[in-house]
Amino acid sequence: MNILVLNAGSATLKFQVVITDADRIADDRDDKLLRGQIERIGGESVITLRNADGSTRRRTASLRDMRAAVDWLVGYLTAPESGTGLSARADIHAVGHRVVHGGEQFRSSVMVDDAVLQGIEDNVELAPLHNPHNLRGIEATRKALGMGVPQVAVFDTAFHHTLPEHAYLYAIPYPLYRRHKIRRYGFHGTSHRSIAYRFRKITARERGEVRIVTLHLGNGCSACAIRDGVSIDTSMGFTPLEGLVMGTRSGDLDAALLDYIAAKEGLSLSQVEAMLNSQSGLLGISGLTNDMRDLLAEANELNDRRARLAIEIFCYRARKYIGAYLAALGGADAVVFAGGIGENSAEIRARICDGLQWAGLHVDAAANSALVGGREGRFSADGSTLEAWVVPTDEELLIARDTFRVVSGVSLPG
Ligand code: ADP
Repeated sequence: MNILVLNAGSATLKFQVVITDADRIADDRDDKLLRGQIERIGGESVITLRNADGSTRRRTASLRDMRAAVDWLVGYLTAPESGTGLSARADIHAVGHRVVHGGEQFRSSVMVDDAVLQGIEDNVELAPLHNPHNLRGIEATRKALGMGVPQVAVFDTAFHHTLPEHAYLYAIPYPLYRRHKIRRYGFHGTSHRSIAYRFRKITARERGEVRIVTLHLGNGCSACAIRDGVSIDTSMGFTPLEGLVMGTRSGDLDAALLDYIAAKEGLSLSQVEAMLNSQSGLLGISGLTNDMRDLLAEANELNDRRARLAIEIFCYRARKYIGAYLAALGGADAVVFAGGIGENSAEIRARICDGLQWAGLHVDAAANSALVGGREGRFSADGSTLEAWVVPTDEELLIARDTFRVVSGVSLPG
């Protein structure tokens, strides 16, 4: 089945073409073809196209809205120059969409119909920065490909629907949950699920045998405690702001700060919230950048004090969450790193793990340094009772596989 995976944001559209079916999934040989992104939709858009062999090309086009972007993309993918082998719109058999918030309603990936569209719309209040754009992506695809092409929604929150009440409820007046659905939902679910599934596959372990802590460390960062293949706790909450220190988000803090900062700085509460989302985290502490590569360079080469501090706070918070999730899980087999930082920075991984020797985790420095640029493997020393791994996340692949599963009705593991 030829599947187009789409992730529609406010002014961006990320995409990948994947060919998959039951046999390919069983043998782990899905064909991942062209991927890329269209940025600055609404003006002179910049399009980045990356072939399976890693070669990249760039071009520009004037795309006034999401509809124009999807139309351009479908036109490009079905033209010979794309190299996808697709030659007509009918060659796109199904489309899988990343949708950020499925609320309490969507517990797994579903075929998009009018009721599902309404359901995503109903959750706009919970994810005003994301769900409207995801909806726009689905509507634009319907128009570009017609109602006959099945579309599947894959929710970022769905994997966390297994959180027990004691993990998802905040200790605030209970009626707030009943009246307004205020609770912890968790995000990055597709990523944590993808990492956990791949970990079981490469270690040849069954669902019931695995207790792991997964760390998705990208621009956004989250941790997840996984037992028997399901999420039992995760660090993001009602919104993606809670939990770990991130590129520009603060993660956990005292809620009383909102009013205090607002009064001291003469800001509205929504301005403070925007500050916590986009001016905080690594960027806020360092005053320099949210890019971990640059921060490491500033800290190591120029000995910049605040860059060092930002990295220290980032690693300390991550280690604290690992400790908390070891307690939540009653011990674990492994800590598994993924995301741009988790997959590429041996230094950050080592600093997060340093201090977990008591839990049986000992880093093999050479193995750790070798795991960069998309390589997967174990970097804890032989004999560690808590292992450490890098397992690159592949959200697009998981969305493609879920799309196949939902459209074909074939039941698959994972
Ligand atoms: P997103 O969450 O937007 O998908 P990514 O998963 O691509 O982001 O992660 C982006 C982060 O990964 C940035 O902070 C970037 O600096 C970091 N990163 C990428 N490569 C490296 C590297 N070699 N060393 C340290 N950090 C890296």
